[in-house]
Amino acid sequence: MTGETTGEKMTEKMTKKLKLPDIINIGPFPFELRPDAVACAAGNVNGSMMADSQVILLSPNNAKEAIQETLMHECLHAIWDKTYLGIKYPDTDNDSEGELLIRTLAPYLLGLLKDNPELVKFFCH
Ligand SMILES: [Zn+2]
Repeated sequence: MTGETTGEKMTEKMTKKLKLPDIINIGPFPFELRPDAVACAAGNVNGSMMADSQVILLSPNNAKEAIQETLMHECLHAIWDKTYLGIKYPDTDNDSEGELLIRTLAPYLLGLLKDNPELVKFFCH
């Protein structure tokens, strides 16, 4: 079909629309942010953190706010994986202590950052 956008081009377009960085640093670990509608749909997830390959997958078809919350959630999973939190509070399934903590923290941390740009400036400068 003429005018049809390939999946790769669509992902690029969505990445630009979201102004999603390509790489973020979580502690000493750079993580690639990779919008991937197919992988997220296959796993029936909004996002996924792959610690060993240092990649965070995000479903690019979700609303911007949902993607933001998912990204914060997956960043917390990365912190969990790289610290003692993952041992003390495993985040291995939906009912695990770690998952419940992450689900509680993610929207509030995101809200704290979004609602307080002066605080973010204070932290960053
Ligand atoms: Zn989770």
